[in-house]
Amino acid sequence: MEIRRFFVSPSDIDGNTVTVRGDEFVHMVKVLRVKKGFKVIVCADDGTERDCTVREITGDCAVLDVDALRKVDRRKVRLTLYCGLLKNQKTDIVIQKAVELGVVRIVPFVSANTIEKKFNVERGRRIALEAAKQCGTAYVSEVCEPVTFDKMTAGFGEYSDVLFAYEKERENPVRSVAFHGNDVALVVGSEGGFTEEEHEAAKNAGAVSVTLGRRILRAETADIVACALTLDALGELDYDE
Ligand code: SAH
Repeated sequence: MEIRRFFVSPSDIDGNTVTVRGDEFVHMVKVLRVKKGFKVIVCADDGTERDCTVREITGDCAVLDVDALRKVDRRKVRLTLYCGLLKNQKTDIVIQKAVELGVVRIVPFVSANTIEKKFNVERGRRIALEAAKQCGTAYVSEVCEPVTFDKMTAGFGEYSDVLFAYEKERENPVRSVAFHGNDVALVVGSEGGFTEEEHEAAKNAGAVSVTLGRRILRAETADIVACALTLDALGELDYDE
């Protein structure tokens, strides 16, 4: 049987003892019916997998013994995806795919042409956690509350590079960007795209305008493709030596 993986916060690890609480405890014990003596894998968002055996199950937590540690994943590249909010819960799909690809943080935003204004951040976080478990990463990507376009551009200075996927850009494919570092932001618009003013404002705030090719992609396709192209350009999809 496949060994299941669970995520805990670093504070739930004490030497060779791990405590699983909250939603992960419910999933472990009530849904997957894990019992005393079962083997599981625990990740604490630190790139390490811990092989564990369940020592004890109480009413609200499971206590596990750590049998072995493995450094499994490295994160040299920190990619933040700013995705324009999408209609019909399509942002959920973008979160799932972005996590699978290795995006560290997802920040929805609302711009002039964004139609959808609501976003359920708790649901987004659950989707990110499920996707992390499914794709075998040892990290959980962060999902943030939506920001305005202005708040987003005001934060561009935090990054080594900001790529702005602009549907009218013809010149600059992702593969030709000269990156300055490994803390990169990527901005992809919602269904309505960007206004010329937003494009100018993003460039003035330090973003580089990039094209995703000669066809206009649907916003959700653009999000996923832009993440894949950027992570590949940064070497994040490569195996270690
Ligand atoms: N409604 C707009 C298209 C918006 S596509 C129009 O008809 O022109 C949604 C978002 O996906 C865009 O804002 C952009 O960020 C991204 N996108 C889609 N195709 C792209 C392309 N070929 N190059 C760069 N960005 C693209």
